[in-house]
Amino acid sequence: MLKKSHTNQYHRLAVSDVNGLTDDSVMLTFDIPEHLKTDFQFVPGQYLTLRHQIQGRSVSRCYSICSPVGEESLSIAIRKVHKGQFSNYAVDELSHRDQLEVMPPMGHFKLDEGWLEERHQPACYVGVAGGSGITPIMSMIKSLLTKTASAQFVLFYSNRSEQSMMFRETLGRLVDQFRHRFYLVPFFTETQDDSELIHHTIACALKGKFDTELSSEYLSSLTSRPPRFKNRHRLVSLWPSVDDGSLENCFRRE
Ligand SMILES: Cc1cc2nc3c(=O)[nH]c(=O)nc-3n(C[C@H](O)[C@H](O)[C@H](O)COP(=O)(O)OP(=O)(O)OC[C@H]3O[C@@H](n4cnc5c(N)ncnc54)[C@H](O)[C@@H]3O)c2cc1C
Repeated sequence: MLKKSHTNQYHRLAVSDVNGLTDDSVMLTFDIPEHLKTDFQFVPGQYLTLRHQIQGRSVSRCYSICSPVGEESLSIAIRKVHKGQFSNYAVDELSHRDQLEVMPPMGHFKLDEGWLEERHQPACYVGVAGGSGITPIMSMIKSLLTKTASAQFVLFYSNRSEQSMMFRETLGRLVDQFRHRFYLVPFFTETQDDSELIHHTIACALKGKFDTELSSEYLSSLTSRPPRFKNRHRLVSLWPSVDDGSLENCFRRE
């Protein structure tokens, strides 16, 4: 395997594409030149640190990679934060061919190093995301579905409304393309009648209390296509505070 050079060094990369995701978010894509391909290898879940001069000041911020492994380019997704310096600049001003300083991928919230190996399969990954927290999970979902033959993924994704949901179309396409492998359980906190229960459910999930609210009956009531878990599937939690044992208790109670 080729060795990475200095991983904490910035490199100038050109923005090759800017795609609007919602009214207040964009996906930025960088082409990685041949000589930097090894430095910019990543494990799904990792992030890039970007640096740029904004109004005469050097501003650096981290953004998770949302593209899958194995693509020629790397993408990140940025959502505006109220009065936030970098995010507003990125969403409103950045365009094709602009250059940014970018540090190679880092971060420990990522798939296990051996995620591609046969001995880790079949596995069912369970992820929980709210708003722009979807970005690292997006890379995991696409990588697992396209690079393994058997991995399943269940995503609980909370947003204010369907319109504010980042990657809405991509997720819809993945649901259609990977039937019985990808399950999306969306929550819309502004529009759903049972929003109190939804807030409670998400709060429980985020705190690592995956218990009664996420029973299989509750899942069935939320989605027309409840996940089919096979006993042979290993359940893997992608939320640090939720251990694999809690998932087993919740999902296998039938
Ligand atoms: C590992 C990691 C991965 C991330 N991945 C993503 C991602 O994929 N997508 C994404 O959108 N974001 C991501 N983030 C968040 C991102 O790094 C930025 O924090 C976010 O975009 C806000 O940056 P900003 O410059 O726009 O806001 P900032 O300018 O940093 O401001 C943030 C907030 O603080 C307020 N504020 C700033 N200065 C002051 C002050 N002096 N007094 C009072 N209030 C103040 C601002 O009004 C604003 O509401 C990630 C963060 C980390 C650590």
